[in-house]
Amino acid sequence: MKRVHNFNAGPAALPFDVLKRAQEEFINFKDSGMALMELSHRSKEYDQVHEKAIADLKELYHIPNDYEVLFLQGGASLQFAMIPMNFLSSEKVGNYSLTGSWSEKALAEAEKLGKTAIISSSKESKYNYIPNINELIPTDDAAYVHITSNNTIYGTQWAEYPDLGDIPLIADMSSDILSKEIDISKFSMIYAGAQKNLGPSGVTVVIVKKDLLKDIPSSIPTLLNYQTHVKNNSLYNTPPTFSIYILSLVLDWVRAQGGVSAIEKINHEKASLIYNCLDESNGFYTPHAQVGSRSNMNVTFTLPSEELTKDFLAQAKELGFVGLAGHRSIGGCRASIYNAVPIESCEALVAFMNDFKTKY
Ligand code: PMP
Repeated sequence: MKRVHNFNAGPAALPFDVLKRAQEEFINFKDSGMALMELSHRSKEYDQVHEKAIADLKELYHIPNDYEVLFLQGGASLQFAMIPMNFLSSEKVGNYSLTGSWSEKALAEAEKLGKTAIISSSKESKYNYIPNINELIPTDDAAYVHITSNNTIYGTQWAEYPDLGDIPLIADMSSDILSKEIDISKFSMIYAGAQKNLGPSGVTVVIVKKDLLKDIPSSIPTLLNYQTHVKNNSLYNTPPTFSIYILSLVLDWVRAQGGVSAIEKINHEKASLIYNCLDESNGFYTPHAQVGSRSNMNVTFTLPSEELTKDFLAQAKELGFVGLAGHRSIGGCRASIYNAVPIESCEALVAFMNDFKTKY
């Protein structure tokens, strides 16, 4: 079977070993006589998967003991609303750094629920850079500061994170969770839809500091209250069992690669290959992100004309490159090179890009 070079932005490539293992275990999960999808979420077999996924994520990402790991539904998009619902009180202000469409969406949800402030933004320059962290100054009555650590559409990524003292830092890490080592203790909360670096869609990972949970109002509807999920170990209602199972296989794969630091090193090599190709193209390919803000997960660039872009994408498709069109809101091209995209796919892409440039 021929696998394509998968540069999809999400859902995205999964490690081939994970797919194979899921296939092997698919019909008769651990000799239960059932597929995992057919097992009760209260069964011993599923419980082991659930607990292992939480424990493995804590170990691989070095999550300190004063944090909870939750598996929720509703995508990262529901977190945009749950965060202000749970953490904004009438006297407090949700502080947002705007670095792209997803932070705009996070802000828009908070605006419906309480007071907000934009404390930094790169909107005026088409979100092609990450604002300086020293300029990220919270308002006096800040409930939290929200950032989008990697901007999937614009292809920018925070290279370092601010130190905000007592003010909780909350990050949407949907498109770069587990792609590099981070100091979790800098954050009060991290959240991510799984469908880029962690597994299939359907499960959203929330890593939240226990401290942050103490003042949540009880008036919040049960399923939208973080406390519900903490008290019930993400089993208040039926969780997305199959997505969590695949996530646990992805974590096994991360461990087999040598852990997050080994993945980080390969991610850096993969991204450098493509950025070098852009930089050495004498202006044929123009990177969107400024140096210093470039994402190691989503490489965005344009070609000299719409027509060439169309040709580029058509030829790429014929050669087995998938997902290279830029997001419909900004056009151009984008190569999403999440953890599971092999370096060989990046090498093949660079060879194609160099050929294409020479031909035109
Ligand atoms: N945040 C970021 C950074 C994203 O890239 C995406 C999805 N591409 C979302 C939020 C929305 O995620 P979901 O579709 O899981 O709601």
